Amino acid sequence: MIVMTPQASEAEVEAVRERLAETGVHVVVIPGELTTAIGAIGDPEGVRELGLEGMGGVDRVVPISRPYKLASSELTHDEPSVFDIGGRRVGAKDTFTLIAGPCTVESREQTLEVAEVVKAGGGSMLRGGAYKPRTSPFAFKGLGVPGLEILAEAREATGLPIVTELLDTQHADAIARHADVVQIGARNMQNYALLEVAGKLGLPVLLKRGLSSSLDELLQAADYILKEGNEAVMLCERGIRTFETATRFTLDLGAVPWLKLHTHLPVIVDPSHAAGDRRLVEPLSRAAAAVGADGIIVEVHQDPEHAVCDGPQAMNTSGFAQYVQDVAAHAALLGRTLA
Ligand code: PEP
Ligand code: MN
Repeated sequence: MIVMTPQASEAEVEAVRERLAETGVHVVVIPGELTTAIGAIGDPEGVRELGLEGMGGVDRVVPISRPYKLASSELTHDEPSVFDIGGRRVGAKDTFTLIAGPCTVESREQTLEVAEVVKAGGGSMLRGGAYKPRTSPFAFKGLGVPGLEILAEAREATGLPIVTELLDTQHADAIARHADVVQIGARNMQNYALLEVAGKLGLPVLLKRGLSSSLDELLQAADYILKEGNEAVMLCERGIRTFETATRFTLDLGAVPWLKLHTHLPVIVDPSHAAGDRRLVEPLSRAAAAVGADGIIVEVHQDPEHAVCDGPQAMNTSGFAQYVQDVAAHAALLGRTLA
């Protein structure tokens, strides 16, 4: 919105209108009693670059639209987005999606065993990384394609849809052949080329919030995927960097109701990576369900002490069924049942 000064002449208003129209934005002139305002509907960055503040008769330029467009509930959607993933309804007001599995695929036996526990416990989908983003380049980076084949076998055995991370555009075809949901990791939330590739794969995407990303940035990242015509994007709050170091990251539970207000996309919480400590995973999961999350993604392992990756935050398979019941009871408080 360009607000003109009370002294602005008609010619000055016209000059601003013309300048805006040149850039292809939609222009609406709104004459007022004291001042004239000019609405510019389009790319706010493009409008900002015009330097309109320097033009005669312009008082100020006020951004009024949200920076995210497609992810916003304001413009296109007044109802939450609901989509079907292998028969599970994600994003519906009355369902709760529980995604569980190991941090990474270590072996066939390990993954199939966890998958059976997830299935028996009532989990909705199986998670597991075949390509892992590791802080150290010397750490285990995942099994790659053989890992994806193990996940596909786990789906065959259990019927659970597979959620797995797309780390690099060069792995896109392999991921598309094996996965049901493409995970974009926190470290890649702003890898815009990767987001566009993920958007084109024709699979639902689980987009994790960057370690130090604002919710505005998360929704703009979601726009990159949505603009490729992919409507099935799930957002994931997985903890952010704060001054607090007692937990691995700080789980921003306030993000959940905020996102539910501002976007039509489902919101999933990852208590495992946020906490970094399995003892906190169950209470945080309860809280996530109670605050209105559409689901949870959680790490489970049959021998967490010897897990190749993220062992301290992995819950033991032995407690999984009880955990699911506990979380489901909290989701039920909001009228949700497990998808
Ligand atoms: C993961 O889910 O295993 C993972 C690496 O998560 P994040 O990208 O949130 O760190
Ligand atoms: Mn992990």
